[in-house]
Amino acid sequence: MIDINYICFIFFLIMNKEKIFENTEIAFSLKNDAQLERAYFLFKMISNEPLVRIGTAATNFALKANLPIEGLIRSTVFDHFCGGVNEEDCLPVIESMYVKGVSSVLDYSVEGKENEAEFDSAMQKVLKIIDFAHEKESMPIAVFKPTGFGRFHLYEKLGEGKTLDPEEQEEWNRVVARFDKVCKLAYEKDVIVLIDAEESWMQGAADDLVSQMMQTYNNEKPIVYNTLQMYRHDRMDYLKEQTESARANNYFLGFKLVRGAYMEKENERAESKGYISPICISKQATDDNFNHAVEYMLENLESMSLFSGTHNEASSYLVMDIMKTKNIAHNDNRVWFGQLYGMSDHISFNLAYHGYNVAKYIPFGPVKDVMPYLIRRAEENTSVAGQTGRELKLLKTEKKRRKS
Ligand SMILES: Cc1cc2nc3c(=O)[nH]c(=O)nc-3n(C[C@H](O)[C@H](O)[C@H](O)COP(=O)(O)OP(=O)(O)OC[C@H]3O[C@@H](n4cnc5c(N)ncnc54)[C@H](O)[C@@H]3O)c2cc1C
Repeated sequence: MIDINYICFIFFLIMNKEKIFENTEIAFSLKNDAQLERAYFLFKMISNEPLVRIGTAATNFALKANLPIEGLIRSTVFDHFCGGVNEEDCLPVIESMYVKGVSSVLDYSVEGKENEAEFDSAMQKVLKIIDFAHEKESMPIAVFKPTGFGRFHLYEKLGEGKTLDPEEQEEWNRVVARFDKVCKLAYEKDVIVLIDAEESWMQGAADDLVSQMMQTYNNEKPIVYNTLQMYRHDRMDYLKEQTESARANNYFLGFKLVRGAYMEKENERAESKGYISPICISKQATDDNFNHAVEYMLENLESMSLFSGTHNEASSYLVMDIMKTKNIAHNDNRVWFGQLYGMSDHISFNLAYHGYNVAKYIPFGPVKDVMPYLIRRAEENTSVAGQTGRELKLLKTEKKRRKS
């Protein structure tokens, strides 16, 4: 069946004659020749799927065996995709990007920790970042992951509708208290806080909790933002439900839209457990779903704000085109574009050059602890058709431009 929204979307793209993302001079203005070469070499390496597979296994083994490979990781993937091992390391990156109009979202990317001390320490990091963000114009947004503040198993059990035992209930109360402490400080300091989305089988409990935070802290404007992974075919319905609930209860919604980073894991689990995968049937269906959510959110901007977290050029052009037709100012604070550090500078820096609100996630943390994040980036750049090709083509164009 022909989707009328999709036809409109294509029409928008054809109408959009100015292809601002092709300007590689602006895109790579912060990179010197050596850094450009290094980025080219890195993307060339991770475009090789067998190399990434073997490299990932070897790296995991070497780290577990305490072999001295941290230096190698740091000088390659880590330095490309992360700002440093702590907040202070990231400051030069944050400041240099801000000169070009690109804001930063400091992202404490330590994953896979499962104890209370680690959850408290992650919360303290985010509180510190919010304080920091309040002082610094260059970093107006904070972020955290639900599983950074509580055990995966608790979210999963709640999501399955099971009752927690008394000890687990106390543990969950501490998770809720961590969310509340962070969102309250964000509200007091007027700093947007994004809450990432993770695997679907823990996400239900996280969604309920974030929704609760929005009801408490988004009464005047969107401060707390949840994340919608549009590779999930149920997310459009969820967005509409949330819109109704926010209207009925007088609070604002904030949503970061992404396509989603756990596709293989989701499909494998659904297959092994014999349920229908929550993932859209095709890449095209995911793209349509993402673009549909963009249109819906921009249509309802009086009650919600959008953070468009994507490296997809067509979706980013779509946001720009709708903003233009609706006379939404480029720097309207209800619309943000976001990319990850080390990826899609052609989108971030060109958008900022044209006056849009842009923020890049700057992951940081000890090398060993950010490995799951780095592996996801390497896999994404390997397996997702187009991404590495796009980066390599742009880097090549810029190298050629500089030579000529
Ligand atoms: C600022 C920012 C924040 C982010 N936060 C989160 C987060 O909180 N949670 C999270 O999960 N991810 C998050 N991501 C990661 C994001 O999900 C990935 O970067 C994204 O999947 C890559 O998609 P893209 O929109 O850049 O575009 P593209 O490169 O065009 O799309 C690739 C994506 O399309 C989807 N896809 C590919 N093939 C198929 C298929 N056959 N069927 C269905 N779908 C398919 C997958 O989601 C794949 O990753 C974030 C990204 C950014 C930039």
